[in-house]
Amino acid sequence: MRFHKAESAFFVFIFVILAAGLVMLHAYGYLQSRVDRFTQPSRIADIVYLNRLLFATGVLQATALFFGIFFIYPLIRSQVKEEAKLRVMTESLSARSETLEHAALTDGLTGMQNRRYFDDALKEYIEEFRRVGKPVGLMILDLDHFKQVNDTHGHDVGDEVLRAVAKCLKDMTRYHDVVARLGGEEFAVVAPNMDAELLARFAERIRKAVAGMSVMSGNVRLKITTSVGLAVWNRKETAEDFYRRADRQLYEAKRQGRNRVCA
Ligand code: GH3
Ligand code: MG
Ligand code: MG
Repeated sequence: MRFHKAESAFFVFIFVILAAGLVMLHAYGYLQSRVDRFTQPSRIADIVYLNRLLFATGVLQATALFFGIFFIYPLIRSQVKEEAKLRVMTESLSARSETLEHAALTDGLTGMQNRRYFDDALKEYIEEFRRVGKPVGLMILDLDHFKQVNDTHGHDVGDEVLRAVAKCLKDMTRYHDVVARLGGEEFAVVAPNMDAELLARFAERIRKAVAGMSVMSGNVRLKITTSVGLAVWNRKETAEDFYRRADRQLYEAKRQGRNRVCA
């Protein structure tokens, strides 16, 4: 059994009182046994007075001991229990809120970051890279004719495709890139430290990787492609304008016939 600090202090308190009681008991017995040896009447009165004093202190100490053991200690004990219960509660609450926070920022289907995370991360990256003077690239991807996949092979196969694309994106990107599913069959990558040329090459690699992927639906090998819109932050625009610029390029890639990168 482990003791709380207040409990240990209480035991020291009891121990001191007990020790004082023992010393006093000894003094009391000592006085009793020698009281007849003092012959001078004035001395005897002093001794009797001392005797009473010792007795009174003994009674007080016994009372303190009684109160300590039967009232103070149970109080401390219940407080310690209460505190332990509270600690367990706050620990589980903070673990729960961490889980909730994680869930709020994660896409349930693919396990990647979600739109909310992406919006915050894009703003943060822009602020950070404004300071360090390095480029930030943004890539928005939308799967081509995805509705047909669902319509032809079913929603579950569609989900499987989304998970496969998510895994491909995670495998192709670097540790500090933000990869998110914005919703539906739309994904985004924030690629810090990439100028237009690097970003275009990076996006082309990803587009080819997606086109090279295949997802099995029964014994049918399913092929998918993606269109990609790119933008490099112009150091003046807001995160929203930056996003819109990349989105317009995505629209352009769709317009030009899909399965391509537009910047
Ligand atoms: P486009 O090439 O122009 O992008 O055509 P599209 O068919 O991909 O685009 P559209 O926006 O018409 O269709 C998107 C489809 O994505 C419609 C919807 O059923 C499907 N979808 C959205 N979210 C999910 C999901 O979580 N799971 C599955 N299986 N399908 C989804
Ligand atoms: Mg689409
Ligand atoms: Mg779409």
